[in-house]
Amino acid sequence: MGEPSAPRRLAVMTSGGDAQGMNPAVRSVVRTALNHGAEIFAIYEGYQGLIDGGDRIRAVSWDDVSSILNLGGTIIGTARSLEFRERDGRRKAVHNLLRNGIDRLVVIGGDGSLSGADRLRQEWPSLVAELLERGDIDQATADLHPALMIAGMVGSIDNGMLGTDMTIGADSALHRIVEAIDAISSTAASHQRSFVVEVMGRNCGYLALMAGIAGGAESVVIPEAEVEPEVIVRDIQSAYARGKAHALIIVAEGARNNATRLAEHFEAHKNQIGFDVRVTTLGHVQRGGTPSAFDRLLATRLAAAATEHLDSGEHGRLIGMLKGEVSSTPLTEVVGKPKTIDLELLKLQKVLAQ
Ligand code: ADP
Repeated sequence: MGEPSAPRRLAVMTSGGDAQGMNPAVRSVVRTALNHGAEIFAIYEGYQGLIDGGDRIRAVSWDDVSSILNLGGTIIGTARSLEFRERDGRRKAVHNLLRNGIDRLVVIGGDGSLSGADRLRQEWPSLVAELLERGDIDQATADLHPALMIAGMVGSIDNGMLGTDMTIGADSALHRIVEAIDAISSTAASHQRSFVVEVMGRNCGYLALMAGIAGGAESVVIPEAEVEPEVIVRDIQSAYARGKAHALIIVAEGARNNATRLAEHFEAHKNQIGFDVRVTTLGHVQRGGTPSAFDRLLATRLAAAATEHLDSGEHGRLIGMLKGEVSSTPLTEVVGKPKTIDLELLKLQKVLAQ
């Protein structure tokens, strides 16, 4: 039998846009790691924290993640880092990880963050060699950490990534949108108004479509199925003619005919529409507030699996939920490839809105 090995050292970080459920994920990573006898560190402020090092990489205890299950945002911070996009920045990041003896990383973020994580994993051996050559680390350190083990989870409200049926944060954001739509519908009905509500989703219409169905909208405009403004005008006119008290249009921010363009068109065709049209952009409200029970459960389960996955020998995987099962997919198969939306649901929305 050899010498007892030093405890494994893991780190957790959140990166990119924040999403409800990141805190439950951090809590689950920390406690799962401690339960397995590992030492766990938090990287504060995403990749920028990895580059800055110092007290932005700190050991965390069981109690450090108490009372965060119900908090939106992320207690360990998130940031966007231009420096990490450069190889020099990533070399500093590797140096800081090695200073702390860390070669296992759980990353919770969007497509960009997970692309960055996989890049760091792929470049790790050459960056370690560079650090050795520069005399920044010694041979023993290089030998001890030949590879970086990465497990990623998607923390992103727009549900636009492959490898998981639901991303962490999408359910909470949808709840927030539907609450807002309900509130808008009641005021709209009192004034015979039509509302155009813009929701998040640059490339992905998931939130707009689901909110349109759950909120009973007349029309939904998403990047995956563009609709011309004239068609929306007809939908609103038809709602007016049927005697509806209000009409609701949900638009994804990434649609070509976004809320601003639709508003301009409606203004120009005011006399034909019947309803007075108002535009509301929900913005950051969608990211805020407490995570839903679904997101807490999803984040907790995926994060526990991701932490355990770091010991599996399969490096660079996305841990997601596919058909109700926790599953792992190589990051290279999912990053940069948007998920397609089920357009049957758009047909259903249209049928039910008639
Ligand atoms: P999200 O993770 O929400 O998609 P971003 O696209 O802004 O958010 O990515 C977050 C951070 O991840 C960036 O600020 C950058 O530091 C890092 N990153 C993104 N894409 C890459 C890449 N191709 N290579 C290296 N780092 C990247």
